[in-house]
Amino acid sequence: MPDDCLFCRLVAGEIPATVVRETPDTIAFRDIAPKAPVHVLVVPRTHHADVAALAAADPALAGTLLAEAAEVARQEGIDDGWRLVFNTGAPVGQTVFHVHAHVLGGGRIEGM
Ligand code: AMP
Ligand code: ZN
Repeated sequence: MPDDCLFCRLVAGEIPATVVRETPDTIAFRDIAPKAPVHVLVVPRTHHADVAALAAADPALAGTLLAEAAEVARQEGIDDGWRLVFNTGAPVGQTVFHVHAHVLGGGRIEGM
């Protein structure tokens, strides 16, 4: 694990988080600066820089991450309408280079 990775440190329990769901492979926690009424981040416990790296290295874990995102949406009561975002690369605003799925919903979110 890269010791300068924020989400590796969060997974290790070195940084506090409001965890909403955990599995042996993933952890889901509330975004510290929510952009929607429900804004949860779902990350694999293992370090992959972004979703492209994760899909290349471990497609099964990428599938598990998607299934967990859907489970978080169900648990948060937004499964009638939610958005999944993977920022991939600095040009589109990725700031933490440990892959994370943004689960967004609970109200109107701007269209794309
Ligand atoms: P991104 O811009 O896609 O890399 O998303 C990174 C997200 O991590 C942002 O939405 C931040 O608000 C969020 N974030 C940063 N630090 C923390 C933290 N300690 N706990 C929870 N969310 C965080
Ligand atoms: Zn990491």
